[in-house]
Amino acid sequence: MEQNTVSNDRRESLFYSQKNGYDRIDTQERLQIESYCREYMDFLNTARTEREAVRYAVEKAEALGFRAYQAGEALNPGDRIYRVNRGKALMLAVIGRRGLQDGTVIAGAHIDSPRLDLKQIPLYEQDELCYLRTHYYGGIKKYQWVAVPLELHGVVALASGEMLDVCIGREPDEPKFVITDLLPHLAGDQMKKTMAEGITGEGLNILIGSTPYDDEGKDRVRLAVLSLLNDAYGITEEDFLSAELTAVPAFDVSEVGLDRSLIGGYGHDDRVCAWAELRALFDLEIPEKTAVCILSDKEETGSDGVSGMQSRAFDCFMEDLCDSQGIPLRRCMENSFCISADVTAAFDPLYPEVAEKRNESKVNYGVAICKYTGARGKASTSDASAELVAKLRGLFDRNNVIWQMTEMGKVDQGGGGTIAKFMANRNIDTIDAGVPVLSMHAPYEVVSKLDCYMTYKGILAAYTE
Ligand code: MN
Ligand code: MN
Repeated sequence: MEQNTVSNDRRESLFYSQKNGYDRIDTQERLQIESYCREYMDFLNTARTEREAVRYAVEKAEALGFRAYQAGEALNPGDRIYRVNRGKALMLAVIGRRGLQDGTVIAGAHIDSPRLDLKQIPLYEQDELCYLRTHYYGGIKKYQWVAVPLELHGVVALASGEMLDVCIGREPDEPKFVITDLLPHLAGDQMKKTMAEGITGEGLNILIGSTPYDDEGKDRVRLAVLSLLNDAYGITEEDFLSAELTAVPAFDVSEVGLDRSLIGGYGHDDRVCAWAELRALFDLEIPEKTAVCILSDKEETGSDGVSGMQSRAFDCFMEDLCDSQGIPLRRCMENSFCISADVTAAFDPLYPEVAEKRNESKVNYGVAICKYTGARGKASTSDASAELVAKLRGLFDRNNVIWQMTEMGKVDQGGGGTIAKFMANRNIDTIDAGVPVLSMHAPYEVVSKLDCYMTYKGILAAYTE
């Protein structure tokens, strides 16, 4: 008997084992999870595009004492500042007690999500129905985007310089839009195609109207649709040329499961990590090191462009902060630490064949640290160092953050990237950590409330310690 107890103790002390997060929290923390997630759900319901996410974040930030920062302004510990990058990305900071030569603590997430962008000449009429042509944005499984309600968001920039905001379908009494699918009765040939081929990119055309204009001419339905748009926004067909209009799923964010432990909605990737960063930054008073929060755009298409994480807009912002203290930017960066807060694939028991279970994140096991992303032989990853993983382990453990280690799927099954490598390339120690997601990139993605909260708690710990 005694022998058994001794070897069980050795098991306990030597094996790495994980516990479900719900076995590790008390009632008080359960309540904190609920109130945190209520706020997050409101953000996700409102912010359906990167522009809307920026607007929502700025409004909240200003209410909490953040001010738009201009280069050259003096900065003092506790100051709360932000800079909007072209309406699509946002950088915020709370100035720390220590100087910027000691580095900053950065959390970076992206606020763009996969969707269907309208082409620049989108409208056409076919057999007395009117459609919008689209060009999908980010990685989507095209068959998931047909026969689901869609809403339209975005802006129309007029040649005069005036900007029009468009949002149709978000309110319950507003019309929705849809891409129709073939009925099963007549889908014999379609169903023989692969899932990649069944619905094509050029087939993702959104039904937008069916009533003909009251005259005898050509394209009467298209004319009727344009008349409605002209009445509502004063625009003509040519104005689509300088518009950014996008169709996103029209599902409301909701709790999922009888126990309400999960959240379903469009765009968790990556507004779930964006909110975790924001909330954590909002909760700071005067941190030791300056805390920086980045909400970037274009991650889903490779982080290129002026609002993506490869843009120098971030360096300019950081350099402006450094200039205010007379510190070289390179000194600040080499001493900084960045959590690239990005979602990861949760192990899905319905599809175990793509996962290597021991190394996959699980729902309700907390924020997931990902040492490397990438594909094949770790191509395109910054691969955080062992030292950095150790730093984060220690930080999370000291602060009772429930966390787990993850990799994205089996070796050679696929892969993906985040903004981590673009931060690491700047000589900033960077590691990925974020929320495990089920059905990632689908019109309706699912996350666990506990994992959302633990991601916030982890980022707060990084900012605070
Ligand atoms: Mn993504
Ligand atoms: Mn992401």
